[in-house]
Amino acid sequence: MTREVVHTTAGSAVFLLAGSGTLGWDQVGANLVEPGDRVLVVQTGYFGEGFRECLETYGARTTTLAAPLGGTVSPAELEAGLLSARRKGDGRAYKLVTITHVDTSTGVRADARALAEVVRRVSPGTLVVLDAVCSLASEELRMDDWGVDVVLSASQKGLGAPPGLSVLLAGERALAVWEGRKARGVKSGGFYSSWEKWLPVMRAYDTNTPAYFGTPAVSLVRAYHASLAEITRGSISLPARLALHATASKRVSAAAARLGLHPLCTDPRAQAYGMTALWVPESLGPTGAGALLAAMSRKGVVLAGGLVAAVKGRYVRIGHMGWSVVGEGGKDVDLVIKALGEAVGEVREAVEGKGLARL
Ligand SMILES: *Cc1c(COP(=O)(O)O)cnc(C)c1O
Repeated sequence: MTREVVHTTAGSAVFLLAGSGTLGWDQVGANLVEPGDRVLVVQTGYFGEGFRECLETYGARTTTLAAPLGGTVSPAELEAGLLSARRKGDGRAYKLVTITHVDTSTGVRADARALAEVVRRVSPGTLVVLDAVCSLASEELRMDDWGVDVVLSASQKGLGAPPGLSVLLAGERALAVWEGRKARGVKSGGFYSSWEKWLPVMRAYDTNTPAYFGTPAVSLVRAYHASLAEITRGSISLPARLALHATASKRVSAAAARLGLHPLCTDPRAQAYGMTALWVPESLGPTGAGALLAAMSRKGVVLAGGLVAAVKGRYVRIGHMGWSVVGEGGKDVDLVIKALGEAVGEVREAVEGKGLARL
């Protein structure tokens, strides 16, 4: 069912390991990066930067193509980045390009399909690694059709299960790169995260035979199974789910705009369907974001604060992934929109009240 959600075939290996989404980064670093390998990081926020830091831990030499805050990296920019490395480089191409499908810190969705197409065309030996922790099951993702080599995700975001499972798919090209490394006698850079240890276990699971390396988080695997069954066999099909997330996202943006809250994401076409990051206007006071989170929380709605360090205290994030949109007719979205309107009103009144008191 995991393969169905990312549209890949049995040739891809699925790794389900106990650990959070971050463990997917470590799996890539430990198994696909050798010290000195060059990696191009397409960065659209905090999580792209985290992935870069992780891969450097494993000896990667990284180059970052950073989008301006709230923006995207265009296919043309990626193409230029790949070509310039070829011109001035030491003759070695990038081993990997990493892309964050939806950067959860900004709500920006990268055009993974177009970016992967550029890599396949300009630098066919380079692996495309997609961080789909936030996006999977809220945004369209077609691993094989798009030429993506590794998809990494986690149980708790769009996939709607409790946190604690790292979900990673490695396609045939990625497995071949890893096999090549093994054939040269180069060991994995990790132990718990080593595919040498896990691949036989995961292949055994595929054929319903038992195998052991480390104890699986069985309760989470059960929960994840229930969630996948709902997504792939439930009454709302996967394409219908994606459409519901798109609608929810548009409704949240429109409602927020009416309240004077505008998205960090500067291109409406790149606005994620599973979550939205919103600037809190100055009219809500210098601590408006904190006040808004508190006001929402008093209404029983938990929003997330900002993550991008430089502007952390100036924006909030709303999740509209998984059950909150596809469950119970999406009534959570109505509830959040209503609460947001009231909370913004309360914070504004408090700020204006204080202003009057000062006068
Ligand atoms: C949440 C997130 C991660 C990290 O996942 P954890 O489960 O918190 O370790 C990585 N990348 C993206 C895009 C995320 O949204």
